[in-house]
Amino acid sequence: MSNLKLCQGTRCHTYHTQDRLKGTKENKTYQTRRRSSFYYGQGNFCSLNCQNDWFYDFGTKAIDHFGRLTEPKHLTEENAWHKSYDWGSADEQNRYFFVNGITKERRSLTEAQYRDSNYTINTGE
Ligand SMILES: [Zn+2]
Repeated sequence: MSNLKLCQGTRCHTYHTQDRLKGTKENKTYQTRRRSSFYYGQGNFCSLNCQNDWFYDFGTKAIDHFGRLTEPKHLTEENAWHKSYDWGSADEQNRYFFVNGITKERRSLTEAQYRDSNYTINTGE
């Protein structure tokens, strides 16, 4: 029981579902969900709804605390590569490729490189 986590949703206990209704006959209450793991919000929320409730209540404070963007970020040419493929290509050597989102340049990839989620030619953020 002690390894269970509580959903961090600020209104989790207000949703009327059977699994939240706990207690004996005269003392039933709707309670915050408690599970060994949660799927949403890096394991902090039982549902997208609860994640959204939290953000509605604390999102602005969290952004101000951790640093609000005051200037747009820039994705430059050297970091604009993304993987793509062309199944219609009869040329198997060029079926997988990097394409640059800014210059539209293509560079061939092997299938293994395409499937390796760590393989990139981008140099930074
Ligand atoms: Zn919840």
